[in-house]
Amino acid sequence: MRKPLIAGNFKMYKTISETHIYAKGLRAALASVADREVAVCPPFTALAAVAEELRGSPIAWGSQNVHWEKQGAFTGEISAEMLKELGCRFAIAGHSERRQYFGETDQTVNKRMHAVLVAGITPIVCIGETLQEREANTTFSVVERQMKNGLQGLVSNATIVIAYEPVWAIGTGKTATPAQAQEVHAFIRSQLAKTFGDTFAKLTRVLYGGSVKPDNMSALMSQPDIDGGLVGGACLDVESFSKIVRYQ
Ligand code: PEP
Repeated sequence: MRKPLIAGNFKMYKTISETHIYAKGLRAALASVADREVAVCPPFTALAAVAEELRGSPIAWGSQNVHWEKQGAFTGEISAEMLKELGCRFAIAGHSERRQYFGETDQTVNKRMHAVLVAGITPIVCIGETLQEREANTTFSVVERQMKNGLQGLVSNATIVIAYEPVWAIGTGKTATPAQAQEVHAFIRSQLAKTFGDTFAKLTRVLYGGSVKPDNMSALMSQPDIDGGLVGGACLDVESFSKIVRYQ
């Protein structure tokens, strides 16, 4: 019912020329993959390059952030309309690095999500607890709060993607065990059902993110509520990302 989605988040890596080479390679490497959806999210500067290289292929692309206003005096920001024009199918909202270093809050995540939906782009809304929060046994309440505030006002026929990314697992080499991830994914789905109904919960993909690698993807994907991955470091190399996409 839910087609797996594997999305690569380049973070602040790859120039335009590097992205051209990467996207050409990825297109060739994933030519025969049809039963799962793949997307790449390069820096804003390289979106036109992926659009050029991946147009007409099954690989989609998206942004790592988006501003909520349509236009205006917001120096340095990029609107959802601008991303739509570049062919973005996805936009990441609320990545933990944005929360940690750039003042992102549940409220701004919510504004970004709505702006993206208005433009016809699917938001990938990121949530997840810090190490301190996990150690204090507050994982579920943190995730519940992030969902309640971040998804406020969402209508139940909208298409969104949630990425559960425990902050302690991002870029650290520490992956949540499949069982640890599944426990939170099941909780997320139960919250979705409670707020938006069973159909919405059944249809909405919940990705896992946090040190996903070729050798841990299959075990994560064997869990019933893990519908794909948001991959940072390991997406930067075509071979490694292709292996992750081709998990069995
Ligand atoms: C990410 O950037 O969303 C991420 C999960 O990074 P990494 O895979 O490097 O942990």
